[in-house]
Amino acid sequence: MSLKRVKSESLKDALTGLANRKSFHDELERIQQKADKLAETCMIFADIDRFKQVNDEYGHLFGDRVITAVAKVIEEVVGDRGLASRYGGEEFAVLLPGSKAEEAKVLAESIRDSVERRRVINPKTGEKLGAVTISIGVSQFDPEVDVFKTIEQADAALYRAKNKGRNCVESG
Ligand code: GH3
Ligand code: MG
Ligand code: MG
Repeated sequence: MSLKRVKSESLKDALTGLANRKSFHDELERIQQKADKLAETCMIFADIDRFKQVNDEYGHLFGDRVITAVAKVIEEVVGDRGLASRYGGEEFAVLLPGSKAEEAKVLAESIRDSVERRRVINPKTGEKLGAVTISIGVSQFDPEVDVFKTIEQADAALYRAKNKGRNCVESG
C-alpha cells in the first residue's frame, strides 16, 4: 500500500481526508515488525499556533477550513516520503520511514515554512489572512526504546517549540 493513500474509510479522517490516528498507529506497528526499519524511522508532531483565536474570531467552520488547508500543505510537502495523519483536533503526526533525524528536521522545516506561506482568505473581508503557523517536534525511533517513549519525545519537543515562541521546529 502506498503510504499516502489510505483506502479504508475507517483509517481516514473525515474532515481532511488524511490518514487518522488509528492509521498512524497501524503503520507504526507495521514498521516495528520489519527488522531494522524502526531504526531509520522518524516522526513529526505539528500543532497549529494560537488556533483558539482563529475559532474565536472567525468561527468554528472557518477553523475547520484552516485545519483542512494546513492538512493539504503537510500532505503535499510529505508526498511519498511518509504518512501524514491528523492525530487530533489541530494536531498532525507524520511517520517518516527511511529518514534519519537530520533529514526529518529538514522536512519539518520545509513543512513549517510552507504552512506559513500558504495564506487563507479572511471570510469577513475577502482579504488574505495573517499567516497561520505551526510548531513542530521531531524525534527518531530506536528499536531498543518503546515507541510510545519516542512519541512522547516528539510531543515534548513540540512543547519546547511552543515555549520558544512558536512557528519553529525542535527535535530530540
Ligand atoms: P497553541 O499555540 O498553544 O497550540 O494554542 P492553541 O490556541 O492552538 O491551543 P490548543 O492547541 O490547546 O487549542 C486547540 C484548539 O483547537 C481547541 C479547540 O477548540 C480547537 N479545535 C480542536 N479540534 C477542532 C476542530 O476539529 N475544528 C475546529 N474548528 N477547532 C478545533
Ligand atoms: Mg493542540
Ligand atoms: Mg494549537
